[in-house]
Amino acid sequence: MSQSNFVVNGKEKMNGHWQIDVDDIGENHAATSIDTPLKPDAFDISDEEKMKMISSHFESIMDILGLDLNDDSLQGTPKRVAKMFVKEIFHGLDPKNKPSISLFENKFAYRQMLVEKGIRVQSFCEHHFLPIYGVAHVAYIPGDKVIGLSKLNRIVDYYARRPQVQERLTQQIALELQNTLQTKDVAVYIDAKHMCVQARGVEHQNSSTVTSSYNGRFLNESVRSEFLNAIK
Ligand SMILES: [Zn+2]
Repeated sequence: MSQSNFVVNGKEKMNGHWQIDVDDIGENHAATSIDTPLKPDAFDISDEEKMKMISSHFESIMDILGLDLNDDSLQGTPKRVAKMFVKEIFHGLDPKNKPSISLFENKFAYRQMLVEKGIRVQSFCEHHFLPIYGVAHVAYIPGDKVIGLSKLNRIVDYYARRPQVQERLTQQIALELQNTLQTKDVAVYIDAKHMCVQARGVEHQNSSTVTSSYNGRFLNESVRSEFLNAIK
C-alpha cells in the first residue's frame, strides 16, 4: 500500500514523486503508457509455477469472501481461474505467444485499401479485471508486402489477451501492423463495451467506447472516409 504523505486533487506525493491516485486512474480508465507495464522479470517464472501460485492466491480470495472451498462446485475454481489467466485470457502478455507473421510479395500489385472488418475483440480492463468485448476493424494500404488475412485477426487477439485499456490496445495493434507491414498506412478502429461500466459504477448498459488510430495516408480525410464507409 502507498504511504501517502498528502493528497492534492487526487494526486499524492510519495517519495518525492507525484503519483496519480489509484481510484483516479481506474475510474477515468486512463492509460499511463503505450507499452503494457510489465516487470523486468515478468517471465522468469514458468507458466506452471504461475498457475500454482495464482491458484493458491485465488483460493485465499474465495476463502476471504466466505466461500466454502469444500463444496463440489467451488473446489476446482482456483485451478480453473489460474489456468484461464495464464493460458487463455492473459496469454498475450508473454512475447513467446506472439503470432509469427509471414509476409508475401504483393504479386497482384494491389495498392488499394484493404479492410478487415468485424474482428472479435475479447479483452479485460486492467483496472477492474472485467471483460471488454466488441469488434475491431483494421485497414492498410499495401506496399510491396501483403499479410495473410487471418494474421490480422491474430494480431488483434494477441494484444487483446492481456489486461488492457482500450486506447492502448488500439495503439498497440496499429503500431504492430505498421512495423509488420512496413508501412505507415494503417488504421485501427475499435468499438467495445466495458463490463466495468455496465455492471458497476455508473451501470450504463448500452454505452460503448470507440477508439481509433489513423496513420500515414489515413490521416487524409478522403482516405479516412473511405475506410469509415467500408466499416459502416
Ligand atoms: Zn474498468
